[in-house]
Amino acid sequence: MERIELLKELTEGFGISGYEAEIRETLKKYFSSRAEVIQDRLGSIIAKKKGTADSPKIMFAAHMDEIGFMVKEISKEGFIKFLPVGGWWQGNLPGLRVWIKNSKGDTIPGVIGMKPIHELTPEEAKKIPEIEKMYIDVGATGNFNPQEKMKIRPGDPVIPDGKFESLANGELYMAKAWDDRVGCALLVELLNNLTAFEHPNTVYLAGTAQEEVGLRGARTAAFTVEPDIGFALDVSICRDTPGNEGEAKEKLGAGAAILIYDSTMIPHIKLRDFVCELAELNNIPYHFTSLKGGYDTGVIHISKSGVPSLAIGVPCRYVHSGAGIISIKDYENVLNLLTLIVKHLNQDVMAQLIK
Ligand SMILES: [Zn+2]
Repeated sequence: MERIELLKELTEGFGISGYEAEIRETLKKYFSSRAEVIQDRLGSIIAKKKGTADSPKIMFAAHMDEIGFMVKEISKEGFIKFLPVGGWWQGNLPGLRVWIKNSKGDTIPGVIGMKPIHELTPEEAKKIPEIEKMYIDVGATGNFNPQEKMKIRPGDPVIPDGKFESLANGELYMAKAWDDRVGCALLVELLNNLTAFEHPNTVYLAGTAQEEVGLRGARTAAFTVEPDIGFALDVSICRDTPGNEGEAKEKLGAGAAILIYDSTMIPHIKLRDFVCELAELNNIPYHFTSLKGGYDTGVIHISKSGVPSLAIGVPCRYVHSGAGIISIKDYENVLNLLTLIVKHLNQDVMAQLIK
């Protein structure tokens, strides 16, 4: 399996929250020859890889959905009003090229439009544009009716147009939907690594649905798996660009991001320390990160009677916009760290963690 091909395939895939079928099929393709595959009723997909022991049950969650939009209604002039799905900042929207997928599965190009700058009043120009005043333009003119001619209907999903590109020195890659297809790729590669050695636990690799609208798929996936330990694999925030004060610790090339706090979870302290120690012993670079918002572990750690959990991130610039940038070295460091975790997390370690 070629790593860059895998990342391209996953990031260019089409899958807003609730419409993850294409990504689920991609994961299934990679999972099914190496593990037992379980699908829950909300749409998450889970690969179960049994090691030499049934427990601890370790769950790695990465969400399949990306932020996008949904067709709300079509005006009689043929402009498409839309709903944001997931957390967009309005300033990123005007001029964004998008693809609409209709019920037949065709993808239709368009652009998010609003009044041009020349037409804004001085008051309007100072404000962040409102989503309600924007629309998707698919090129309807005259009496062209997109509903009839293109079979576009309310409820159809929309994603940003984002080609996968290699940048600069070949270490950095730009794509849409790194959040969280980078985590999905880690699931695939981790499973691949686990086929090469015996591990003292059972591993569940979960591609979760509907994270961006409230960690919904992780909730049902955790119910299905009943894990002893939970990890979220996702992007983490970079603070290494103009406008951020001071020397950035959270930056491209800084290795694995270990979460110390987000709005949904205080990570399990002993689990965090176990992971940091493994990284140090094996010379894997890491740094701490925090987030306004949450990862899948936000619901995993409070499932059943509580699950020691930690989120591990791949640093990413421009999270929740039409294009992000990651470093392939960080990806590799995170993958190596995850592989070490599975190698070492046995029943004795588990007993120590929950003592
Ligand atoms: Zn995410």
